[in-house]
Amino acid sequence: MAKKRETDGERYCVFCGRSEHEVPLMLQGLDSSICSDCVKLCYDYIHNLEQSSAPKHGKIEKLLKPKEIHAYLDQYVIGQERAKKLLSVAVYNHYKRINHNLASDSKDDLDIEKSNILMVGPTGTGKTLMAKTIAKLLDVPFTIVDATVLTEAGYVGEDVESILTRLLQEADYDVALAERGIVFIDEIDKIARKSDNPSITRDVSGEGVQQAMLKLLEGNVVNVPPKGGRKHPEQEFIQVNTQNILFICGGAFEGIEKRIAQRLNTQVIGFGTSGRKQVDKNNLLKYVSAQDLRAYGLIPEIIGRLPVITYLDQLDRAALLRILTEPKNAIIRQYEKMFELDGLKLVIDPGVLELIVDTAIENKLGARGLRSICEQIMTDAMYEAPSSNRKTFRLTVDYAKSKLDADKA
Ligand code: ADP
Repeated sequence: MAKKRETDGERYCVFCGRSEHEVPLMLQGLDSSICSDCVKLCYDYIHNLEQSSAPKHGKIEKLLKPKEIHAYLDQYVIGQERAKKLLSVAVYNHYKRINHNLASDSKDDLDIEKSNILMVGPTGTGKTLMAKTIAKLLDVPFTIVDATVLTEAGYVGEDVESILTRLLQEADYDVALAERGIVFIDEIDKIARKSDNPSITRDVSGEGVQQAMLKLLEGNVVNVPPKGGRKHPEQEFIQVNTQNILFICGGAFEGIEKRIAQRLNTQVIGFGTSGRKQVDKNNLLKYVSAQDLRAYGLIPEIIGRLPVITYLDQLDRAALLRILTEPKNAIIRQYEKMFELDGLKLVIDPGVLELIVDTAIENKLGARGLRSICEQIMTDAMYEAPSSNRKTFRLTVDYAKSKLDADKA
C-alpha cells in the first residue's frame, strides 16, 4: 500500500488499504489516512470491549451514603421511616464491608460481621418493594424466594440451595456477581417451629428448613445445582460463597403482637412502671425483639444470623392515598402515561382516589389491592378511549362507582 501511495499521489487507508475513491470518506492524519468505514469498525470494537470489561456491579464502587439510600427509597416507598433508616444503614455497612475487603478471609484482623436483615410487618406494607428498590439502586442480582416452598433436603419441595440457583440465574451465572447479590426470603414466619417442643417428631417444613437455611445465612461455600430443583447426581455443582450475599427476610408474623405484649407486661411488672416509657399499644410491632421471634418459633441460630430486626407499619388511609399518586412509578401516574401515549389527558376527580382507597380497606387488601381496583375501574375506559376523538378523559366518582358495582353484580 505504502508503495502505491508514494507513486500515484492518491490517499489510501492505512487500515484497509482502499483508495479514497473506494471509500465514503477519507480522514487525513499527519502522515497517513484512515477511511470512515475503518473508523466505524474501530469505534464498535472499542465500545464492545468497554462494555464487556466494565464492572457489572459498578454502582457498588461508588456506594451511596445511608441518607442517600433513604432518599432513593423515599421515591418509591411511602412511610415506613424506621425500616427505611435501618435498611439504609444495614445495606450501606454491608457493601462498605465488602468494598473495604474486611470480610473474614482478609488480612485485617477485625471481622465485621454480616448484617442480614429481618423485616416484620403485615402483608402488603412494602417489605418486598423495599428489598427490590434497594437491589435496583445497587444494580446487583436480586431474587425473591418464598420460604414456604422450601423443604429439608430429601423431602418433596425445593432444597434451600435452589435459592442460590435463582440468584445465579439472575447473575447470568457470573458467580462473582451472584456472590454480592441480594436474596429476599419472603414468608419466613411460615417456617417457624410449629410447637415449642423441638424434637418429638420431624418438622419437615419448619425447623428442618431453618436448619438447612442456616448454612446459607452463615456465610459458607455452598454447592449449588446449576439448574435448580432436585439434585441430580449427574449435575455438576457450582460453588457459591454466601459470605457477601445480603439476605433480607420478611414475614407477617401474625399474632406476634400477643407475645410482644406478654413480654412487655412482664417487664413492666419486673422493673416497676415508674421509669418506663408509655407503650404504644396500637403499634406493638415496633417493640419486636429477638426474644419474641424465638417465642414465635424461629430457632436462635437463625435469629443470630439476622441481626438487624425492623418492623413495618400497617398502612393507613392517608398512606394508601399517597401510594396511589406519589411514588415514582405510582399506579395513577402509570395510567396517566398510558392515556398520554394515546394523546389523551386523564383527569381524575379527587373523590375517585378516596373511593379506590376505601374499597381497598373494605376488601382488607391494603396496598396490594389498589392495582386490581384501579383495573376494574379503568378497563372499559382503556378499551374505548384510544378509538374516540376526545382529547380528555374525565374519571368521575359516579363512573368509578358504576364500574365497581358492575363487577360486584
Ligand atoms: P409485602 O410487605 O407483603 O412484601 P409488597 O412490598 O409486595 O408487600 O407490596 C405490595 C405492593 O403494594 C407493592 O408492589 C406496592 O405497589 C404497594 N406497596 C406496599 N407498601 C407500599 C409502600 N409503603 N409504599 C408504596 N407502595 C407500597
